Formats: sequence, C-alpha cells, structure tokens
Amino acid sequence: MAQQEDHFKKVISHAKEYGYIFGSSEIYDGLSAVYDYGQNGVELKKNIRDYWWKSMVQMHDNIVGLDAAIFMHPTTWKASGHVDAFSDPLIDNKDSKKRYRADVLVEDYAEKLNQKAEKEIKKAAKRFGDSFDREQYEATNPRVMGYREKQKAATARLARLLDADDLAGVKALIEELEIACPLSGSRNWTDVRQFNLMFGTKLGASAETATDLYLRPETAQGIFVNYLNVQKTGRMKIPFGIAQTGKAFRNEIVARQFIFRMREFEQMEMQFFVRPGEEMKWYDHWKETRLKWHTALGLGEENYRFHDHEKLAHYANAAADIEFNFPFGFKELEGIHSRTDFDLKAHEEHSGKKLQFFDPELNESYVPYVVETSIGLDRMFLAVFSQSLQEEELENGTSRVVLKLPALLAPTKAAILPLVKKDGLPEIAKKIVDDLKFDYQVVYDEKDAVGRRYRRQDAVGTPFCITVDHDTKDDGMVTIRHRDSMKQERVLIEKIQDIIDAQVNIKNWVQ
Ligand code: ATP
Repeated sequence: MAQQEDHFKKVISHAKEYGYIFGSSEIYDGLSAVYDYGQNGVELKKNIRDYWWKSMVQMHDNIVGLDAAIFMHPTTWKASGHVDAFSDPLIDNKDSKKRYRADVLVEDYAEKLNQKAEKEIKKAAKRFGDSFDREQYEATNPRVMGYREKQKAATARLARLLDADDLAGVKALIEELEIACPLSGSRNWTDVRQFNLMFGTKLGASAETATDLYLRPETAQGIFVNYLNVQKTGRMKIPFGIAQTGKAFRNEIVARQFIFRMREFEQMEMQFFVRPGEEMKWYDHWKETRLKWHTALGLGEENYRFHDHEKLAHYANAAADIEFNFPFGFKELEGIHSRTDFDLKAHEEHSGKKLQFFDPELNESYVPYVVETSIGLDRMFLAVFSQSLQEEELENGTSRVVLKLPALLAPTKAAILPLVKKDGLPEIAKKIVDDLKFDYQVVYDEKDAVGRRYRRQDAVGTPFCITVDHDTKDDGMVTIRHRDSMKQERVLIEKIQDIIDAQVNIKNWVQ
C-alpha cells in the first residue's frame, strides 16, 4: 500500500516536472480538482483522443462524429433525469470535518476485503506452485470464501438501499460495517444527504430575464438531442453510432485523486443506436471491443477487469465498467451502458417531437435503443501515464527513470541530437528534423552530453533518440537509440522514417 502511495506521489510530481500537468491557476494557489495540461500533456491528451477517434469514427463506416455545445436548453437536463437524480449521497465525519461519498466508503470497504482475499490466493499460489488451481481454492478455502461473502453482502445491501433511496439505511450500514474516517479514525458520522453535481450558470444580460443553465455534466445528451439531425442528414441506418469528445463538468463532492476525479474534465462518448431487443448483443459486442482497444496498448492485460453493476442507473438495463489498476487500486476507467430507449423517449416527451426511426427491413417505426461507451480522457491519461512511469536498475549499478508510454501516444516521437554543437553536425540534425516534422512531432536538442540528453528523453517518454556524429558526414548513417531496450543501431538517414512509422502507425496497434 505504502509502495502504491509512493508511486502515486511520483506520478504527480513527474507529471509536473516534465510539463504534463499543472494545477490550475497555480500562482493563486490553485483551484481544487481543476488541472491544466502543459506542453507535453496536451500532446499526450491529443494522441489519446486521436487514438479513440480513429478507432471509433474513422474505422467504423457506421459511426460518425459530432461536436455539440456545452450549453444546452435547460429542459434537456430535466428530460435526462439529471435535475432530479444526478446526485451523490454525501456524509461528513464530525471529527475530521472531511466529506465523503457514502457509497464510496462502502465500496472501499468491499475492495479491502477483495484485496485480503487476493493476498491469500497469492500466498497459496506460491505455496502450491504449478499444481495450484485458483478456481478450486477460491471455492473451498474458508477464509477466502468468508472475505468474498462479506464483500458481496456489503455491495448488494448498498445497491438495495440506494435503489430505495434509503439514506438512513446507508448510514446504518456504514455504522454496522464499522467504517472509520481514514483521517480521524473515528466513526462519528453525520446523516447521509443527497447532493446534485451539476454546476449552474446564467445566460442573459439582466438578472430578471436571465435563463438558468447548467454546464453539461456529460456529453451524451448533446448526441441524443441531435440524433435525428444526424440520422436524417447522414442517411444513417440502424445500427449506427454517434461519437463525441468534449468537456463535462461535475461539482464532485470528493475530488482528491489528482486527475482521476476532476470538476472539469473531458469525456469521449459514443452512443450506438440499435433495434429494440438487440441491445444485449451490442452491449456484449462493445464490452469486448472496448476492452481490446485498451489492451492493444500493451500496458498489461492483468491491469484491466470488468465490473458488472448491481445497482443500475435510472436509464440502464445493463451496465459494466472497465476498471484499471490505478496507483490506488482498481477503479472505473470506462463505462459501457445499455441505456434502453430512456433518453430518446424522455426527449420526445419533453420536446413534443418524434425521435423515431423508420426501419425499412421491418417496415415499422420505433424509438431506437442505445448502447453507450463512455470514457474519461483524463482518467485514460492517468492510466497510461501511471503505468508507464518506471524506475529501472541498470546493469552498471545506476538507475534511470523512464516513461514507457506506448509509442503511438508519446508526445514526441523522436529527439534529434547532434553529438557536438559544431563541425556541421547541427546542420545535418536540423535537416532531419525538417524532413520528419511533417509527419511527426520531433525535437532538436544539442545541450549537454549525449548520455544526459538520452535520460531527459527517457523521462519525458520519447521512444527514439537519433544521434548525428562525425561518421554521419561520410556514411549518411545515424545512431537510433530505442527508449525501452536502450539498444542502439546504426541506420541510413533515409531509413529513419520507416523505423519510426513501424512503431507509431496506428495500423500496427489495432487489427
Ligand atoms: P464515478 O463512479 O467514478 O463517479 P461515473 O460512473 O459517474 O464515475 P460516468 O457518468 O459513467 O462516470 O462517466 C463516464 C466516464 O467519465 C467515467 O468512466 C470516467 O472515466 C469519466 N469521469 C466521470 N467523472 C469524472 C471526473 N469527475 N473526473 C474525471 N473523469 C470522470
């Protein structure tokens, strides 16, 4: 645990030191749970967004994009249920005065039990070696079974209580499980209350005529209200999808985990419109497709898992999260939701406009069902960044800090380094930069010894360093150093482009 916390601290300071993430308006002491992306962060974020956009829109002939405004007619949020139901149950500890999400307190308690069970299983696996049968052990070991039972009982009860909006019951559950405030260690809790997460604002010049608006808490509703515009003008046939990336805003009660939970963040959402009755088939399809998108990055399949929801949101008939092994444990990275026809029906009712699709094959009109995939771009950033940051012991007894970002996502693809600042080497290096810059983000660096320059690029995550030396002038060759293996090879200048392309072209990452 301490090791994990330590890693998380390193992630945060590394992100700042290397121009990835700064606190918002830092010179005024910052703004809680709001962050700015620096010169490298903005590139990594853009590359993640592009990877998503290309995989979802460019590579699917039945998915198109959209960019709806952040401001929307206020009735949108009445129809979607956000005005009435987009709230979290909060609870305060009277001694530390810290505020928590009541549901998260119970979920963390359940996760601790899960970790205890996993620890037992790991120990046993070590003891039994190759003959270890995990399934059998989980089904028969009384201690593991005990942890799992307690875990299930707690989450199931929480789901029932939240479903019934029984806030007193949630408080009683927290007391019964003897959950203490991590800060004060006390169990002196206030009652549980609901808190709406939408930010309100006003549109208009004078106080009397101004309209109350909300900053959108999700991008999805912009897709729903435009569903018919896109379907008609794009002559889309069901099944089809609309994808969108953009900012969303939530007044989160607890926002203490860096860019994991922000008050202003970016979402990448896709709503897939299907025939009623076929939603489960597509739900399974998108679960699998989205998991593949993640694992294709090579950050380790063991770092992802599905979590099927027991408590379903008011709009869903099935829902699962793809959880990632963040520095603070497995947490939601992406949600896949079967939203039924809830949203389109609600917008029909509130707007008085029909939002139906005429299905020529069935010769009938219906309101389509929707399967949604929804991922936070910032959370994805944290997943990639935290998993890539590594400290390595080297053979010569020294160590290095290396950011092993997937080359596809790395902000800078190559650094071009003249061995010395004279003898015509900078000119050759700059020529290489000029040739590569049409296709890739590259940098030129001539300061310090070449070893130090390598370390700098390792720490910032650049997959290739290309060094121009005196021999280059005679043989037209340069040394390419690979970030992860630190292997060096000598290649012709004309070959550089192919070598970079093999590692950064999306073709080589997805099938
Ligand atoms: P959580 O349970 O963590 O609050 P959620 O279930 O409310 O998340 P959704 O409404 O399904 O999240 O939003 C979809 C995705 O948007 C999430 O999987 C997550 O990646 C991202 N997301 C949601 N809230 C935030 C936030 N406050 N900061 C950053 N990303 C967020």
